Amino acid sequence: MAMMRSDLGTMKILHLKKRGCFLLKLLCLVVLMLIFCEFLVYYVVIFQCHWPEVKIEAHRSSRQSSASVLKAMFLSDTHLLGEIKGHWLDKLRREWQMERAFQTALSLLEPDIVFILGDVFDEGKWSSSQAWADDVRRFQKMFRHPVRTELMVVVGNHDIGFHYEMTTYKLKRFAKVFNFTSGKLIARKGVNFVMVNSVALEGDGCTVCSRAEAKLMKLSHKLNCSHQQEQIHSNKRCSGVEQLPASEPILLQHYPLYRRSDAECTGEDSALPEEKNIPFKEKYDVLSREASQKLLWWFHPRLILSGHTHSACEVLHNGKIPEISVPSFSWRNRNNPSFIMGSITPTDFSLYKCFLPLESRVVTIYCIAGAILGVLILAHLQLFNPPFYFAQHLIRKHKAV
Ligand SMILES: [Zn+2]
Repeated sequence: MAMMRSDLGTMKILHLKKRGCFLLKLLCLVVLMLIFCEFLVYYVVIFQCHWPEVKIEAHRSSRQSSASVLKAMFLSDTHLLGEIKGHWLDKLRREWQMERAFQTALSLLEPDIVFILGDVFDEGKWSSSQAWADDVRRFQKMFRHPVRTELMVVVGNHDIGFHYEMTTYKLKRFAKVFNFTSGKLIARKGVNFVMVNSVALEGDGCTVCSRAEAKLMKLSHKLNCSHQQEQIHSNKRCSGVEQLPASEPILLQHYPLYRRSDAECTGEDSALPEEKNIPFKEKYDVLSREASQKLLWWFHPRLILSGHTHSACEVLHNGKIPEISVPSFSWRNRNNPSFIMGSITPTDFSLYKCFLPLESRVVTIYCIAGAILGVLILAHLQLFNPPFYFAQHLIRKHKAV
């Protein structure tokens, strides 16, 4: 009797061990799947992106030249959710995805400078000072960067509100965190970037608008003088003006310049077919025709990069000035977010779009892994035994009782 009891005890321990071993295997599978889908997948996808080649002036030696190419990354519309409309799970998921994508891109691609083209926050337009502080804290954690990489942020309508809800207070708190002013010039490696507050280009003479326009005009004058410096040394209007690199600027702004609609836009991440033909509203979807013309006159840019539409597009203004609409960086707005990589010199540039992992693909991987787990669990429970063996098993159980 004692022997039988000890046999039963050993069998029970063996059974428990087997079950524990199986559960451990399942746990390992789940952890491996999570590590791949939430961490490694960003490395696998972004590793395939590369800085595009750019023509380099012949008179420079190759070593000098590779150092003189500016590696710039452009992304847009991160829309960090706020406390009013944001569900905590949505926030957690989207912010984790953007943080991993950004941090992986930084470590693999090592850009010199990163520009975010507005709508960093979703509720900056109405958030309380406490909610604003919380959003900023999360942004700074997600988009942390080493000292060798600069991060510049352009203002968007969700950060300070559309023109009619934009106030000096909201603009100031944004400017304080991101050191942003409209008409700010960033000159790196001889390349000039002009950052524009496109929300303030309403043209109605409001205080913020007049100040922004005045700053832009002043900067335009400076840039024109720098461009002419080699030809006209004795230009009186340019005497005493600070000298900037003599290179046509690149405009960075949130609203795109005026275009009728997205009908002409092509590519897998352009607007959906049913949205493409919807006419854009001036001063809401795109800048007004007047403001767009002003920017082109003032700056004669060689390239414009903008956000706001969440979809991709390439437009040619006046037949020669390209504008790139940078799609949203958030999986909340797209299945296939991306960012632009630019190799830029004072005279030339070359752009490449780096796509991030497709959300649908990650979900598919989770579904397949879930199905495999389900099958393993069922197999373990011996439900896959043929009915005859299953019945025999039941009878044996019955007899034992
Ligand atoms: Zn926007």
